Amino acid sequence: MTIHSVLVANRGEIAVRIIRAAKALGLRTVQVHSQADAGSLAVKLADEAIDIGPAAAKKSYLNIEAVLAAAKAAKVDAIHPGYGFLSENADFAEAVVAAGMKFVGPDAAAIRLLGDKVAARQVAARAGVPTVPGSDGRVSDLTEAAAIVSRIGFPVMIKAAAGGGGRGIRIAHSLEEFERHFPQASAEAAAAFGDGGLYIEKVIEKARHIEVQILGDGTNFVHCYERECSLQRRRQKVWEEAPAAGLPADVRKRLCDSAVALARSVGYSGAGTVEYLYDDASRDFYFIEVNTRIQVEHPVTEMITGLDLVQEMLRIAGGQPLSVSQDDIVIAGHAIECRINAEDPHRGFMPGPGPVETLAVPEGEGIRFDTMLFAGYAVPPFYDSLLGKLIVHGADRDACLAKLRTALAGLGISGIPTTVPLHQALAADADVAAGRFHTRFLEHWLETKFAAPPSGTREVA
Ligand code: ADP
Ligand code: ADP
Ligand code: MG
Repeated sequence: MTIHSVLVANRGEIAVRIIRAAKALGLRTVQVHSQADAGSLAVKLADEAIDIGPAAAKKSYLNIEAVLAAAKAAKVDAIHPGYGFLSENADFAEAVVAAGMKFVGPDAAAIRLLGDKVAARQVAARAGVPTVPGSDGRVSDLTEAAAIVSRIGFPVMIKAAAGGGGRGIRIAHSLEEFERHFPQASAEAAAAFGDGGLYIEKVIEKARHIEVQILGDGTNFVHCYERECSLQRRRQKVWEEAPAAGLPADVRKRLCDSAVALARSVGYSGAGTVEYLYDDASRDFYFIEVNTRIQVEHPVTEMITGLDLVQEMLRIAGGQPLSVSQDDIVIAGHAIECRINAEDPHRGFMPGPGPVETLAVPEGEGIRFDTMLFAGYAVPPFYDSLLGKLIVHGADRDACLAKLRTALAGLGISGIPTTVPLHQALAADADVAAGRFHTRFLEHWLETKFAAPPSGTREVA
């Protein structure tokens, strides 16, 4: 069977992105929204819009009952959860299916298994994928934990089994620090994720974050090559690329093959990402987690492969086999994505929601701006600060960077602060241009290279 209609259980730029993909496939689109998003671009673009509650996400976008009631009222065939919100909630995926609809994503069992970062490590290990040295399972008491850290050596990371979004991670450099952090981390994880379970990993120093996009239809499994997301702040991605600069071909092959082996071992269905840390010096890579959803940075993969990953997800949810085989997927050129947030990079990344006065979007071949913005739109203060993503494609990395500098100069958002100046500075940096960076690079660069504007001046983004 194929699906004829889809409800978008998300907001912001990804809701707009899903609606466009669904329309391209001829599907009827239904957008649910909070009261704060009644005037959003996604609401304007969708065939139908349904108010599911107040601004607070818990009462709207995270309210399973309200989303399901809207889906039943609109008689849709499927629900696309986007990223964040309910996208990795196995109970939601199960409830969607129980209500007779398709969940656009893997089945609840796969979400449950891979969403638990400890269980996912075990799945990876069984599939022959190297994992970061660390605990075999959850670590519940300090004695057990101390034995593990003395085996793997400091520094170590204490991570929440249910963590995500860069949260629920702490570093300990000594046993004293570890003994102090461990109980605090457990209490915090319980409060933030409803699960206090912890595990331990060795810190891989100067690692690069490299991840592999996978697609599966339950029978066939392919990879769409890798993305590099090493430029991070607070363990959240800021700038992403595809492919990873200078990755040796044999490493690329092993990395991508291992992601496919993992997908095959669980009979994966839908789009997913297998994340790794990569050590340039030793050429070793280590599995860290699987994201069982579309990711924010998926467009860089689309730009180098020509695939439309959201359309692919919708087709798979409708029971169709993958539209491509591994041999059809080839890397053409290089793509970079800059996340544009409503934050002031010169003032500690303070969020600055509010009305957008004017909007100028760069255009041209190989330039894409995925956004929910329009002139006159007021960015609400209730949700994360992502405004859009500027994605640029070039024949090679140097051409891509050159085009990116021009595109950033042509991106004008007035009325609210944005991270455009940060990306302009990064795009002009010699280390970035040479591809010399790792996951701790940006934090150090922000302290040493990213100058504050002269005092007394007020930047208009
Ligand atoms: P990853 O989860 O590996 O970082 P993405 O960057 O694609 O992959 O997605 C980040 C996820 O975290 C998204 O689901 C997004 O909604 C969520 N997220 C983004 N910013 C924040 C934040 N400040 N706090 C918590 N979650 C966030
Ligand atoms: P999340 O679920 O929040 O996305 P991840 O496990 O994917 O958490 O890790 C997020 C980021 O934290 C990574 O991209 C990397 O920068 C850093 N990180 C995670 N594990 C390690 C590790 N063992 N050593 C060094 N850095 C790590
Ligand atoms: Mg991650």
